[in-house]
Amino acid sequence: MIRISNIIKKYNKLEVLKGIDAELQTGKVTAIVGPNGSGKTTLIKIILGLVKADFGFVEIDGTKINGDYNYKNNIGYMPQIARYPENLTVFEVLSMIKDLRNRKDQPEEKLLKEFELSGELTKAIRTLSGGNRQKLSTVISLMFDPKFLIFDEPTAGLDPVISNRFKEMVFAEKQKGKTIILTSHIMSEVEELADEIIFLLEGKIFYKGSLQNLLIERGESKLEKAVAKILEEKVLWN
Ligand code: ADP
Repeated sequence: MIRISNIIKKYNKLEVLKGIDAELQTGKVTAIVGPNGSGKTTLIKIILGLVKADFGFVEIDGTKINGDYNYKNNIGYMPQIARYPENLTVFEVLSMIKDLRNRKDQPEEKLLKEFELSGELTKAIRTLSGGNRQKLSTVISLMFDPKFLIFDEPTAGLDPVISNRFKEMVFAEKQKGKTIILTSHIMSEVEELADEIIFLLEGKIFYKGSLQNLLIERGESKLEKAVAKILEEKVLWN
């Protein structure tokens, strides 16, 4: 399980996260939503150990971490924009990643087929289409069968066919009991995929709980409308 305890993060004087507490439940998809700049990516990077919080900590299966963690052993991470060495081929990138873990088997093979990338293995990264880059990044996040999966804006810019494949994959991984976190600006997608919602507003949790409850609380059947209403109210408060 991932537990987030009283995380505070400042960049210079700007307090980006103002005391975040949350538990990410096993076998559930938790969506972190909120307007641009509300702190979603920073929170994800703290969970991954890529950014150090000023206060608080994250516990991953009972181990406390704060910026001193190699997430790669436990967490499959798909960043918003994945960067790989542009002149290497897909095959070389995958080999390099496996070499780093001393893996001699082919855990990627089935995934490459599933995401229709088998034919791209000899291509240089720089020649891949945006969709294929995204698919490669999905394969890499899944190839070591990690317990935890984090997807940051995973379907941004993807065509509907690939987006659907991604969603099917999320359902399948959830069935396997994975703990999944995603961020997305596409509320219909969050509605389809998420069990739990963490709604960040200006670095604080505005709502934390089930998707269903949020809709009931707001008297809306669509998340997009509920979120739009909340944001309109927020503008009125300011
Ligand atoms: P979101 O993912 O919700 O859009 P971010 O976590 O990316 O939000 O950013 C939250 C705030 O922190 C923004 O105001 C952003 O400009 C600022 N920020 C993010 N990363 C840095 C950084 N490395 N240095 C300074 N400010 C940053």
